[in-house]
Amino acid sequence: MTSFNPQQFRQQFPALNDATCYLDSAATALKPLAVISATEQFYRLSAGTVHRSQFAAAQRLTERYEQARSQVAQLLNAADSHSIVWTKGTTEAINLVAQSWLRPRLQAGDEIVVSEAEHHANLVPWLMVAEQTGARVVKWPVGDDRLPDIGQLHALLNARTRLVAVGQMSNVTGGCPDLQQVISLAHGCGAKVMVDGAQGVVHCPPDVQTLDIDFYAFSAHKLYGPMGIGALYGKACLLAEMVPWQGGGKMISSVTFDGFTPQPVPWCFEAGTPNVAGVIGLSAALDWLNDIDIAAAERWSCELATQAEARLSALPGFRSYRASNSSLLAFDIAGIHHSDVVMLLAESGIAVRAGQHCAQPLLAALGVSGTLRASFAPYNTPEDVDALVAAMTTALTLLAD
Ligand code: PMP
Repeated sequence: MTSFNPQQFRQQFPALNDATCYLDSAATALKPLAVISATEQFYRLSAGTVHRSQFAAAQRLTERYEQARSQVAQLLNAADSHSIVWTKGTTEAINLVAQSWLRPRLQAGDEIVVSEAEHHANLVPWLMVAEQTGARVVKWPVGDDRLPDIGQLHALLNARTRLVAVGQMSNVTGGCPDLQQVISLAHGCGAKVMVDGAQGVVHCPPDVQTLDIDFYAFSAHKLYGPMGIGALYGKACLLAEMVPWQGGGKMISSVTFDGFTPQPVPWCFEAGTPNVAGVIGLSAALDWLNDIDIAAAERWSCELATQAEARLSALPGFRSYRASNSSLLAFDIAGIHHSDVVMLLAESGIAVRAGQHCAQPLLAALGVSGTLRASFAPYNTPEDVDALVAAMTTALTLLAD
């Protein structure tokens, strides 16, 4: 039975006891007790590491570690847990696809289509691989609705397009492109699709099979889990074509001075001692989320963003960049620099983000040097909206003097 009770939900987050009004969950979510205690138990009680030792405690740990892989597969409706590769997070997962799948397939003159709305994590790895191979990164512009413009995608795709990189949800506007359309257009011209799920997974974990997603990446820390752990989903046939990127212990089945034989997928992509505590913490987060009515929690945080947007719009010069029904509220004040405002908000105990949000091309397309971003989560309250509005009003009064 799943439910969502804002008060009970909030009580799960000890970090909220700090006086700060935390409106920066799009950067990283706070951690519930379930995750904190699973991680603590791991360090307190577990012995050994995974996939190495025969003693019972290490064997149990290996089982738990692999069970968490199945949980992630379930979250995304992946057909097989072996389609899930543990990574440090979204950034590492995208770099893995760029270096391990795309790079050996790129010829000079090939094209990688990247949406203008992307976080740098879904742009820079493609620029790097293009520089390494002589391929070209093609900008897929956003339209008036600040979403990558599907109409323009038609014209950009051609026989040289190898991959389309797109985010499930913008970390600035909260806008979500129609993935189904993007994927069917890309597949129509033989290109694969990399979906950055860093923001989207929190709000709507996709069904990778129904959407026919080729590659999908997310980070645990935005999904109430620990930092330093995330996952790459790849279609089994694509992962099977990939060469290992990082070499070392655990990713080989045999090695001599003449060469090595890699482990099967996915372990061949997981060199070195893994972040077992991170995997256990993510597993605890997913168990915990199973008991939450995500849709109701989502409605709550979007409603708070709607209230904040409506009230802040009474302030002179307020401009919103928020997509409708998003829990992210990016905004600025005409004639006032976002850095000045964020300093004053910080002094009032309001934690919001200001700047380009690792999305410089999108900010350039919006024609602004930076914005503020208040991101609401289900543990936020109407009192947080009051605090933000009051602090903004004070800040603007001070800055007007
Ligand atoms: N993509 C998006 C849309 C993001 O919001 C973020 C995190 N800000 C990332 C990628 C990168 O995630 P990480 O730093 O956890 O690898």
